[in-house]
Order: sequence, then C-alpha cells, then structure tokens
Amino acid sequence: MRILIVEDDINLNRQLAEALKEAGYVVDTAFDGEEGHFLGDTEPYDAIILDIGLPEMDGITVLEKWRGAGRATPVLILTARDRWSDKVAGIDAGADDYVAKPFHVEEVLARIRALIRRAAGHASSEIVCGPVRLDTKSSKATVDGKQLKLTSHEYRLLAYLMHHKGEVVSRTELVEHMYDQDFDRDSNTIEVFVGRLRKKMGVDLIETVRGLGYRIQAPTNAN
Ligand code: CA
Repeated sequence: MRILIVEDDINLNRQLAEALKEAGYVVDTAFDGEEGHFLGDTEPYDAIILDIGLPEMDGITVLEKWRGAGRATPVLILTARDRWSDKVAGIDAGADDYVAKPFHVEEVLARIRALIRRAAGHASSEIVCGPVRLDTKSSKATVDGKQLKLTSHEYRLLAYLMHHKGEVVSRTELVEHMYDQDFDRDSNTIEVFVGRLRKKMGVDLIETVRGLGYRIQAPTNAN
C-alpha cells in the first residue's frame, strides 16, 4: 500500500512518514500544494494525507482539482483544531475523513487503515482468505493461525493482494503500489517476491493468471 503525505511542516511530515513506513506502507512526501497536486494526479496512491494550509496551492484547491479530474483516491485532511470551517470545506471538496491538529500519530494510522480497507470493500480490520488472515492493525499475517515471518516487500505484496482478493492484479499495479517514486522499479522482481511468499505461506492460494498478473483466492471447496 502506497501513501502520499502533503504537509509543509517538515517535522510533522517526517514523523508521519516514519510511522507509516514502520507500519509497512510505502510513502511519498510533498511539502507544498503544487508538488502534492502533481504527485496525486500522476501516481496511483492507496490513500493521501493532505494538509489544508499549504504554500503554493492550498489543500482545498488541491483536493477540488483531484476530484474534478475524477481521482477517487481516499483522502484524509489535516485541519487546525479551531478551524471548523476547514473541515466543512474539506469534506465538501471530497475529503473522506479528517484529523484535527495536534493529533496522535496512532489516530492518523487508524484512520488511514480504515480508509484503505473501506475503499477495497472490507469492513473489518482483519482480511481473511481461506487459511490466510491479514491483520491490518498489527501488519501481520497468519496461515492456519501460524504467523508468517515476512520482509517488508513480502508483506506489502501480500497486503495488496489480500485487499484486492478475488481480483486479478497486474505486475505493473503491484510495482506501483509496493515502491515509492524514487525506487528503481523492475516488474520482474515481483515474480521473485511471489515465489518467496508462496514458499513461506506453504499453501497455493496465489494464482498466476497468464499474461495478466496474480490473484489471491480461497479454494472454492473451502467453507
Ligand atoms: Ca500547513
């Protein structure tokens, strides 16, 4: 899962980025509205954290532009505590949720988890596919109750497939959601990660759909 943070407060931006990376996300950062708008307009994020008070272009304008262009990415806005009008303007502009400053990073993490899983159609923080359970809260996965020891890349791969279970996900899409903008992307490495993940899982749930990509699906005879 890949997140964009648009926040001009350098310390706050860094603090959020570190917490999100720690929780297993890939993070891109922007420090003004123009850069943030550009990234959100051209890169496929799973969620965006958007400050309202930004240099170059304010957060409400950035959001209006994205929505006007049909970008449906879940957006969490950051507002000043005493500015109730910012919350109203933000939600009217197409924000999915907001957090008022000052906030606890844990609250932002919880809201981001909820936005991402709801956007993928999951109501619960745990996503289940046959014997595999993904706990989005602790960023851990189990197979038949046994915890998998995954690298951050393997976790991201599994998390993306689990959020989109039953759907065919292309290699390009996986690459776009597993690496940040500065990473030297190579879609051939996805095959290697899928191979390692299959081995660690020990169950054959990740199907290769020839020419299209991968799909995680519970066996039809389960349940
Ligand atoms: Ca600001």
